Amino acid sequence: MNTPQELDCFECGKGSLIPKLVDITGYRHGEEFTVIVNGLQCPACGLKTIDNEYSGEFTKLVSDAYREKHGLLTGAQIREARTRMGMSQEKFAQYLRVGPASVNRWENGKIQDEAMNELIVLKTDLLTAINNYQFVKQSAPVGSEIAAFGFCDGAIGVFAPFAEAQFRKPPSVFAAEAFSTMEVYAPLC
Ligand SMILES: [Zn+2]
Repeated sequence: MNTPQELDCFECGKGSLIPKLVDITGYRHGEEFTVIVNGLQCPACGLKTIDNEYSGEFTKLVSDAYREKHGLLTGAQIREARTRMGMSQEKFAQYLRVGPASVNRWENGKIQDEAMNELIVLKTDLLTAINNYQFVKQSAPVGSEIAAFGFCDGAIGVFAPFAEAQFRKPPSVFAAEAFSTMEVYAPLC
């Protein structure tokens, strides 16, 4: 039978580390974020450290604090958008045209860049996709080819071949990849 093993404090050597919630500071892209996580604390010297079992959780919490500050989707929000569309991580990666491991990494704390964040929103949020479609439509030269289309596998697309030539420097609403094809997607069904 396993019994929890008491760890002597590696800082002072006088106390035994006690499991409790602790506030620990982590760093992302040079910014610091203090989060509350399951950890260990020494009653003698006050040392706070993360319980190894929760180091993955700590990574996620710090990344999500960064994402919230910078208006990016959190790992849980990415997972929510993916499952709302009924996709596995692998299928979602194909849908976004990224490597198969990327989605898993984002959901577990690797921070997506801003362009990728915009692409995820465009491809998973219907209102954003519709707004984008309206924007493309308004920007279209008279008589140019533009069409919106829906797929029952959960997507709406905008086909606008004029746009690639017109928007060499795309407005920020277009993520880099969405811009190159001018297709945007969001769940319909
Ligand atoms: Zn100590």
